[in-house]
Amino acid sequence: MRRTSGRECRDEPAPHDGRRFSPRRTRTEDSVTASFSGGCLCGACRYTAHGEPINVRVCHCRSCQKALGATFNARVLMPRAAVELGGPIGWARSSPELARGFCTLCGSTLFSERAVRGWIGITLASLDEPERFTPTEHIWTSSKPAWLQLADGLPHYPEAPPG
Ligand SMILES: [Zn+2]
Ligand SMILES: [Zn+2]
Repeated sequence: MRRTSGRECRDEPAPHDGRRFSPRRTRTEDSVTASFSGGCLCGACRYTAHGEPINVRVCHCRSCQKALGATFNARVLMPRAAVELGGPIGWARSSPELARGFCTLCGSTLFSERAVRGWIGITLASLDEPERFTPTEHIWTSSKPAWLQLADGLPHYPEAPPG
């Protein structure tokens, strides 16, 4: 612990002086809103995404269940061009159009890329701020186990969502 930290706190401008600094603060908040980052369990794979999501959904399909080894896949869908990837990412195809991206060191599942559409799904749990986004619907609930009761009031679809 540095001794200077207490002094820095005390030297902060009083609330009525905050006006001078508000433009900078606003810009910082905007840039935070426009990008997010995350990575795998061991930290070797990292990503940064820019801009607004295409959608944020929970997928209950068997392919997601198997690929993640989890009951469902809560993911944020982004344009592929808006996401920078780094680290030892391995790719495994779960269907002709869909490739799953994972860390080859620790095995964390991070991505589901549909290159033909130019989309990439990012697992919400891998975000540095996992509560940054809230899903807006459940899809492929025909594969959902009976013990999982959805009580969040969100729309849910037995297969792919309409549209
Ligand atoms: Zn890893
Ligand atoms: Zn799925």
